[in-house]
Amino acid sequence: MSSITPANQKQAMLLKDTTIIISNVALLYYLPGIGLIMGLLLPYIIIKRQRTKTSLEQQRMVEQMRENESRSQALNEQLSSLLESKTMELKKNREIIQKQNEEISALSAQLKKDATWLNLDVELAGKGPSLSKFADFEAFSRIYPDKDAVLKYISALKWDKGYSCIRCCNETFLAGQTPYGRRCTKCGYDESATVNTIFHNAKILLNKALYMLILVYNTKGAISSYKLAEILDIRQSTCWVYSSKFKKKLLQSKDSPGKTDGEGWSRMVLDQSV
Ligand SMILES: [Zn+2]
Repeated sequence: MSSITPANQKQAMLLKDTTIIISNVALLYYLPGIGLIMGLLLPYIIIKRQRTKTSLEQQRMVEQMRENESRSQALNEQLSSLLESKTMELKKNREIIQKQNEEISALSAQLKKDATWLNLDVELAGKGPSLSKFADFEAFSRIYPDKDAVLKYISALKWDKGYSCIRCCNETFLAGQTPYGRRCTKCGYDESATVNTIFHNAKILLNKALYMLILVYNTKGAISSYKLAEILDIRQSTCWVYSSKFKKKLLQSKDSPGKTDGEGWSRMVLDQSV
């Protein structure tokens, strides 16, 4: 059994005081070391933090640059596409303008031809009845109103110097099966009025065909198929086919209005050279 005596109590207190003193002394002893360590660590921590911050900023900058680059690339692509489409548009427009110019040139040439015809028409109108009587289709129609009238004219023109059978040269005939046709009394060959004329097998109305021939002749072939279509009320393509044939014949005959008696076209009716 132990009991706390005043002596023991005093000893304990002394021990406590001694411990405190020793601790304080030790603290005083180690303090500079701690300060040194802290002094060394603190810059390291600060630098490390600074580096981390810099690294993050750099990373952000790189990302920004990448983003900018990507945007720039997209913009370039957009611009290229726009440029390409504008170039295509310009090319298309250039082609349209070129086509229009060609059409204008063609139209201008056509107008020039038509003007020649109009001038000639005006000119011819004042040169006596032989040419001016056919100044328009209405006037022509009064003389040659239908197929019959034209066939009568062709027949008279064709056998003007007398009849001679084209098969046997017999010179007597009877009326043929077709209007104003003639049938040989010897061999029986029935020749229609249009055989061996420019109008043989014509598929358009004969009065219109004859008027077309007159127009082609009087304009020295300068009248266009478009103008003929307008005057005769026949399709332009059809007018082109017939007027081409007449023009070819006109060129071959080397005939022209002015040097004739005014009905030189009548010789073209019988011209069988084409
Ligand atoms: Zn005969």
